[in-house]
Amino acid sequence: SGLVVSFGEMLIDFVPTASGVSLAEAPGFLKAPGGAPANVAIAVTRLGGRSAFIGKLGDDEFGHMLAGILKQYGVIAEGINFDQGARTALAFVTLRADGEREFMFYRNPSADMLLKPEELNLELIRSAKVFHYGSISLIVQPCRSAHLMAMQVARDAGALLSYDPNLRLALWPSVEEAREQIMSIWDKADLIKVSDEELKFLTGSDEIDDASAMSLLHPNLKLLLVTLGEKGCRYYTKNFYGHVEAFHVTAVDTTGAGDSFVGALLCKIADDRSLIEEEVRLREAIKYANACGAITTTKKGAIPALPSHSEVLSLMKGSQ
Ligand code: ATP
Repeated sequence: SGLVVSFGEMLIDFVPTASGVSLAEAPGFLKAPGGAPANVAIAVTRLGGRSAFIGKLGDDEFGHMLAGILKQYGVIAEGINFDQGARTALAFVTLRADGEREFMFYRNPSADMLLKPEELNLELIRSAKVFHYGSISLIVQPCRSAHLMAMQVARDAGALLSYDPNLRLALWPSVEEAREQIMSIWDKADLIKVSDEELKFLTGSDEIDDASAMSLLHPNLKLLLVTLGEKGCRYYTKNFYGHVEAFHVTAVDTTGAGDSFVGALLCKIADDRSLIEEEVRLREAIKYANACGAITTTKKGAIPALPSHSEVLSLMKGSQ
């Protein structure tokens, strides 16, 4: 099957053992591997696809632990660099009473921010059918230059470019800077996935309607997806748009649902990119991705909650 290459950050989330309490009041924390691009890479291999992760980790116990997790899941790890000076990034998570998560990052700087263009595994990037990235790797240099170069190399080699902005406002110097930089690479992507919250942020409108979503289309964009949690997903192309309902599940932790959704869709597209052009086949792929996202919410954490292909099939079969 076609290779998905995912570029960006991988880090350790420290998740409190109690929810609805401040970081100071948290009785303890459990470490959970995270970072959206790494989650996407693992989502792909869990489903039986092929993926590689490109990024930089600290040459420390956490960094080697994370690289080990990728390898354990069968993600190609030849694009991982280790920084001799900086540490692997950490994030302390607050689980708010309303179910939302807040992040406090330890990145001053962290190893992922120090990836240099000359450290990129170009051969691996050139073998991608789909090249996927977020926006956190755009925030500071030298990683920003590495990100832009990797996009260019992938595009020149004929890969589809997939972008999930994955907004983390706390990491940007200002709200304006976040919006401006996220939009600065907008028209390079073939495929973009945003959440409802990101759609509001990027368009500046309070409404999540078709008109505001379509205002984000650009001439090169083949597919825009707006994920809506338990309401499913909307899709927009030049020729058609519509909605695919979510599956009914009992959600316990939505962490990673978006990454699971993206991984599933990219897995399908890497095998056959023509499915984007045919609405019936696209809807079928989105349904599969919705099922992946749904299953991911039924278990705690991101990576441990990513489903296998057969788990997805049984949810899809069961709800027919
Ligand atoms: P994340 O929480 O990882 O940042 P996101 O906001 O990018 O996720 P979501 O919309 O939460 O993405 O989830 C992606 C997809 O997963 C949805 O389109 C939906 O199909 C599925 N999903 C998410 N939450 C639920 C839920 N509570 N019940 C059923 N399906 C869900």
